[in-house]
Amino acid sequence: MHAFREQLGLADPAPGFLCGAESGGGGALLESRNPATGELLGRVRQATRADYETVVARAAAAFEKWRLVPAPQRGEIVRQIGDELRRAKEPLARLVTAECGKLLTEARGEVQEMIDIADFAVGLSRQLYGLTMHSERASHRMYEQWHPLGVVGIISAFNFPVAVWSWNAMLAAVCGNAMVWKPSPKTPLSAVAAQQIATRVLARNGHPDVMGLLIGEVADVGEPLLDDKRVPLVSATGSCAMGRVVGERVARRFGRTLLELGGNNAILVLDDADLGLALRAIAFGAAGTAGQRCTTTRRVYLQKGIAATLTAQLVKAYGSLKIGDPLAEGTLVGPLIDRAAVTGYERAITQAQSEGATLLCGGKALSGKGFESGCFVEPTLMQARADLPQLQHEVFAPITYLIEVADLDEAIRCNNGVPQGLSSALFTLNLRHAERFLSTAGSDCGIANINIGTSGAEIGGAFGGEKETGGGREAGSDSWKAYMRRQTCTINWGTQLPLAQGVVFDVGN
Ligand code: NAD
Repeated sequence: MHAFREQLGLADPAPGFLCGAESGGGGALLESRNPATGELLGRVRQATRADYETVVARAAAAFEKWRLVPAPQRGEIVRQIGDELRRAKEPLARLVTAECGKLLTEARGEVQEMIDIADFAVGLSRQLYGLTMHSERASHRMYEQWHPLGVVGIISAFNFPVAVWSWNAMLAAVCGNAMVWKPSPKTPLSAVAAQQIATRVLARNGHPDVMGLLIGEVADVGEPLLDDKRVPLVSATGSCAMGRVVGERVARRFGRTLLELGGNNAILVLDDADLGLALRAIAFGAAGTAGQRCTTTRRVYLQKGIAATLTAQLVKAYGSLKIGDPLAEGTLVGPLIDRAAVTGYERAITQAQSEGATLLCGGKALSGKGFESGCFVEPTLMQARADLPQLQHEVFAPITYLIEVADLDEAIRCNNGVPQGLSSALFTLNLRHAERFLSTAGSDCGIANINIGTSGAEIGGAFGGEKETGGGREAGSDSWKAYMRRQTCTINWGTQLPLAQGVVFDVGN
């Protein structure tokens, strides 16, 4: 048995639903396997539709009380969750690595992100500011204030099995919401471990049911969230295909969504770039996390003066990427999440080749010693023309296309010429080029960087993307507003009742 199981208090089977003192699950067992080794990590007794009712009902009841707790006191409880996460950082990171296959250093970074967003939320709990306005009417005061929404539904993807939840949960909590979390069935143990930490803190503070967890079939615990009027906001992170379903269904009942969906991110490198910086940023952005980040660099547009040089440097750098056990020192590329992802990788490469792309390096699934799980692939570089149809799609694997362009204008057109709009980056040492990329006529993405790559965002900024990436924003800046409802208040402290815009409606006495 892994030490982290004991350190995190994970039962076998672990509960598929958890809220306060109640936990369990009446459904079938779900196995969690390590994608690097194929080893069984543990099982979860999945939640059923009846368990869904229990958790949502308890969260709805908890909200009634939680919303009345002053925001700074809610912040104090979130501070305690952050402290518990600090204590659990190493075992939780090891579980994340075991379950989703990302490098241990990245998993530690993911848990650090949970701690960082908890800290951010604590400060925010004293800063849920509303504006005041000058009324056009004498002896009137106008201001706006923010109230919590109710029960927030959080749907998360496998590739950030705990951080995405905390981005939502810590903010939603200080804003005064209760919540229920439906994590990816591919990383259920990480979710149980994170939820147990939060539940322990909430319980000892007298609010055990504020955060609930549901692991089960989409039909039992995912789709009901979309139709449930007790859930005014559904925050969903995952593929564009999932987001399209979630967005439409929730809108049908006039619910709100916060969508964080697929990316198809590009790095643009101009002739005047620092090629050393560009090389490192492309290698990390494209091959890091085995190409399984929403911000992974999937397209690289190279201006023609440096295209041949940087292409050769990249191919050479790819030759030194160590693929293997994500826990081992020196490994840079771990496994894909499962064999289905490997099939998707192979299919995409074949498809790109049939459309005219050329393989520069990589291109194969790996087998043999150390790769017995069948989930390892070679990070792949392909040369392509800008009109390759395959460039329009996000394939969640380390496949990156290198495309030659004439100038910055063409590079920006290409950057913007896909349905997704998450992250983008330009490498240049020319101020005018940099500003042009960041201007209204530049990148159309939610994230636009200069001389750093597309992946590795900090929690202080609002995170999210445009177009089919869904338009949602999470984490820093004023993303908290998504978890609250705005109320405009006007107070008449005078003796007259003047109407706005000078309207007269005199009923006499
Ligand atoms: P996925 O879309 O397969 O699943 C995401 C979650 O949605 C899972 O919990 C899944 O069970 C749930 N789900 C699927 N259909 C549903 C439905 N009809 N109703 C309710 N829930 C449903 O995604 P994945 O493979 O886990 O993750 C990879 C994808 O996530 C990529 O496209 C990636 O770009 C995206 N992603 C985006 C961000 C972002 O912030 N923009 C972050 C991480 C991952």
